[in-house]
Amino acid sequence: MPSYRAPVKDTLFVLEAVCKLDNYARLPGFGEATPDLVAAVVEEGGKFCEGVLAPINLSGDQQGCTRHADGSVSAPDGFKAAYDQFVEGGWGTLMAPAEYGGQGLPHAIGTVFQEFSASANMAFAMYPGLNEGAQAAIMAVGSPELKARFLPNMVHGRWTGTMNLTEPQCGTDLGLIRTRAVPQADGSYSISGTKIFISAGEHDLSENIIHLVLAKTPDAPDSVKGISLFIVPKFLVNPDGSLGARNGVSCGSIEHKMGIHANATCVMNYDGATGYLLGEEMKGLRAMFIMMNAARLGVGVQGLAQAEVAVQNAANYARDRLQGRALTGPKNPDAKADPIIVHPDVRRMLMDGRAFTEGARALVLWGALQVDLAHKAATPEERELADDLISLLTPVIKGYLTDKGYEVATAAQQVFGGHGYIAEWGMEQFVRDARIAMIYEGANGIQAMDLVGRKLAMNGGRGLRAYLALVAESVAVGKADPRTAALAAGLEAAAGELQGATMWLMQNGMANPDNAGAGASAYMHLLGIVALGQMWVTMALASHKALDAGAGDAGFFAAKLITARYFGERCFPDCAALRRKIEAGSEAMMALPAEAF
Ligand SMILES: Cc1cc2nc3c(=O)[nH]c(=O)nc-3n(C[C@H](O)[C@H](O)[C@H](O)COP(=O)(O)OP(=O)(O)OC[C@H]3O[C@@H](n4cnc5c(N)ncnc54)[C@H](O)[C@@H]3O)c2cc1C
Repeated sequence: MPSYRAPVKDTLFVLEAVCKLDNYARLPGFGEATPDLVAAVVEEGGKFCEGVLAPINLSGDQQGCTRHADGSVSAPDGFKAAYDQFVEGGWGTLMAPAEYGGQGLPHAIGTVFQEFSASANMAFAMYPGLNEGAQAAIMAVGSPELKARFLPNMVHGRWTGTMNLTEPQCGTDLGLIRTRAVPQADGSYSISGTKIFISAGEHDLSENIIHLVLAKTPDAPDSVKGISLFIVPKFLVNPDGSLGARNGVSCGSIEHKMGIHANATCVMNYDGATGYLLGEEMKGLRAMFIMMNAARLGVGVQGLAQAEVAVQNAANYARDRLQGRALTGPKNPDAKADPIIVHPDVRRMLMDGRAFTEGARALVLWGALQVDLAHKAATPEERELADDLISLLTPVIKGYLTDKGYEVATAAQQVFGGHGYIAEWGMEQFVRDARIAMIYEGANGIQAMDLVGRKLAMNGGRGLRAYLALVAESVAVGKADPRTAALAAGLEAAAGELQGATMWLMQNGMANPDNAGAGASAYMHLLGIVALGQMWVTMALASHKALDAGAGDAGFFAAKLITARYFGERCFPDCAALRRKIEAGSEAMMALPAEAF
């Protein structure tokens, strides 16, 4: 049976040393986030995830969801009770604005809970996760009337939300959507069509399910330009807020799939269902992107979360499992064998994992801070900077962290040898669950193209310039302290490879777009390493500062510094190789005719 311990100490360190929440105490919501409150939320959130969500992760995976003959769907045993506790504890309300019943706390605090809950039970965490994404879209573009009708119950958790984009013939290319929305005399729309792969599309956790559905109106162009977004509730909502008749939307079937078995992935049939236009007609994609950007950051967190829980279990196992002797002589002479943690190759897998999870945690919490600053920072310049930074890094957080999260989860499974392949240890579940994060919310290849094709050039390259300036600042501060100079020099070299690769893409990607496509994934990974490296320099500096000040837990900071050094020695070197791959261009990649495959 796998275990999970929320990384409370590491999280509090990141919030203090990297996010420096204190600096923003004057901004709305940040004033309430006093150190005591933050510590309480992180600790209690950790306990909830350890004690309520983790124990039903393996059983939920084994039982899965059940669709009944009437089209209703039950989540696995224990999920409804856990969801009720989640709602009662207000865990879904952390980041939501007070006017809809939320606690209005900074995104960084809500993101902590997202990580803990996705480590403890990713399938469970998706139900409230999709709800938060749906709320974000309604908050951003909904009319006051729609906001008042739907948001309070969604924020409370009494109702949950979904996002309905995908259709059988339409995945990445949303222009191919066929679902129709016909205007009705009362101002509503009649929605008809079939959506597939809809996460949390039907279940028994909440009283109502609010579907956000992409569809085309009759006169709209048959392309992305013709897409509108609609709210389609499972139960219609009466003017007084009470639930009305069942709407014309139902779950046709649930998918049998590789992982996240406890989250219902549904085929949703819309048969003249009543829908309400969200935002402007034919501007649906823009509204949906608000939801998807929030969701992409959330999916990046899933990559971190699965890696974290997998590495924790691998470390526990490696300390216990006795096999072979250390290369440098017995470390456990009283027994016939040493624990496998003595073997450098096992250490490699554990240290790769640790260097990734601690760096990724810093990056997602810092990223969450930028989300808030983009709206709440005091000056327009600060707001623009934060928006530029998070826009640039959203595809990296989604794509790089989920690619790496899966890789780290697989390496953690490897630490278990054959036992990692056996279900009862839970490791193969982490690998299966981690896999989907690379696919949904825009497959990682699409994230890489978004980065290279759109984000780099956005506003004349302002985002990348601002980010490189931030990195240069870390390099300068890091190099000024002899104890962090080597790590900072590594970051400087990595940033140099990034700049070289960027220049090459600018020169060769315009002339031949296949060059940009061929190098996009490597570029996303290159920027990912630079981003984690910048976090490691920041964390190393903070650790020295804490040790200099005589911090109580010297072991924690010493371990941080060793992991920082490992990251510098083992991860930065990949940047040069990634640049070489990018500069190889697309010729050999595209040369074979399709029939040759
Ligand atoms: C478990 C699960 C849950 C999901 N939940 C939801 C949900 O809640 N709501 C929802 O709407 N959808 C959901 N999806 C759908 C998911 O978002 C899509 O599967 C995903 O967007 C990819 O679409 P597709 O499967 O049609 O693949 P395709 O679009 O057919 O892509 C296939 C491959 O081709 C690549 N590709 C496609 N176009 C390009 C291009 N232009 N350039 C480069 N590469 C390209 C892709 O990267 C991918 O590797 C879910 C899917 C699964 C499996």
